[in-house]
Amino acid sequence: MKTFNIPDFYRSRIITPIKEFRRQKDKLKRDFTPTVLDFGPVRFLIARHFGFCYGVENAIDIAYKAIAENEGKRIYLLSEMIHNPDVNRDLQDRGVQFIMDTKGNQLIPWSELTPDDIVIVPAFGTTIEIQNKLSELGINAYQYDTTCPFVEKVWKRAAQIGEKQYTVVVHGKPTHEETRATFSHSKEGAPTVVVKDMAQAHRLATYITGESSPEQFYEEFKGQYSEGFDPAEDLRRIGVVNQTTMLAADTQGIADYLKQVMIHHFHLVPDQVDEHFANTRDTLCYATNDNQDATYALLTHPADLVIVAGGYNSSNTSHLVELCEEKLPTYFIASADKLLDRHLIRHYNLTNKEEVVTENYLPDQQPVTVMLTCGASCPDAVVEGILLRFLSFYEGTRPVEEVMEIFR
Ligand code: SF4
Repeated sequence: MKTFNIPDFYRSRIITPIKEFRRQKDKLKRDFTPTVLDFGPVRFLIARHFGFCYGVENAIDIAYKAIAENEGKRIYLLSEMIHNPDVNRDLQDRGVQFIMDTKGNQLIPWSELTPDDIVIVPAFGTTIEIQNKLSELGINAYQYDTTCPFVEKVWKRAAQIGEKQYTVVVHGKPTHEETRATFSHSKEGAPTVVVKDMAQAHRLATYITGESSPEQFYEEFKGQYSEGFDPAEDLRRIGVVNQTTMLAADTQGIADYLKQVMIHHFHLVPDQVDEHFANTRDTLCYATNDNQDATYALLTHPADLVIVAGGYNSSNTSHLVELCEEKLPTYFIASADKLLDRHLIRHYNLTNKEEVVTENYLPDQQPVTVMLTCGASCPDAVVEGILLRFLSFYEGTRPVEEVMEIFR
């Protein structure tokens, strides 16, 4: 497997060796049981898979190379390179400027850029329109292109579906950078519409059956369909792709539902289904699948609480939080300093989209069992910081070196 040059400060003397130890013992990734770290008064159950994925390591490698190779030049990122505040802050501290925010709002006008500038394309990829804009400005968008190959794979899948005259339905968050990029690439080859969840899939079904009018479609799916989209014609043959970081079960549910809608509406017998519905598998990446499967396995064990670490705008991390919230008290935190003390935690509420403070998040009895996991863009160093912060709340914990002995 390709290895990347990642700055040491993103690694951890605890988490990184554990991952390597587990990887060596289970190269085929068949064992999803969590790693247990027993410090006495506090125990940690650490998910089998979490943290930096191929695409994130690739992006970090390229971005730091761009900085090293272009001293004295102005270096820009189209927007956050990945959804992690530590990584983005470090790049900004090294002089990298963001041209847009994560929603696509312009922070630096295009007119300020010159052909001498370096522009890094983030791991989510970018739109055809922005690629063209950079070409017009004389900037090579491919010199430091960190687009994840697994995102490009979705674009290819959309193109294949389009070549067979299906309309592409993208299951994704409409304003997320990756979905905007996928939408842009997909619409080059096929009518394309984005659905964000099952509720929108239900609404889309009413346009497939003709129950709702095209006028309603244009209002309801505003900003989510390609130019010239005709719901009466373009929803007769569809195929589903998805943002690489959605919940596997959600995409499966949406694809199964839309397939059933097609079968009923067009009165299809089994060997006619392909005429109206492209039977494709989801386009989740390996990291999303591994992290979600490892989270399901983690949650089969008893524990007092779960800590999920990551950027609050990280799609894959928020889905791990949703899975954990179904089973246990779950706290979504960006860094160790959100553990204010033994009694107070500042954490992100996914529903209200704001940080809140919760009291008495740790039980009084000992030992306390804490589950730990994080998203694909969260450095091991952040997870280590959280673990050490918990240890600082307890007297008489076993030394880290002693607990780590079994991983040497
Ligand atoms: S989460 Fe998946 S698609 Fe996103 S950067 Fe990582 S490997 Fe690529």
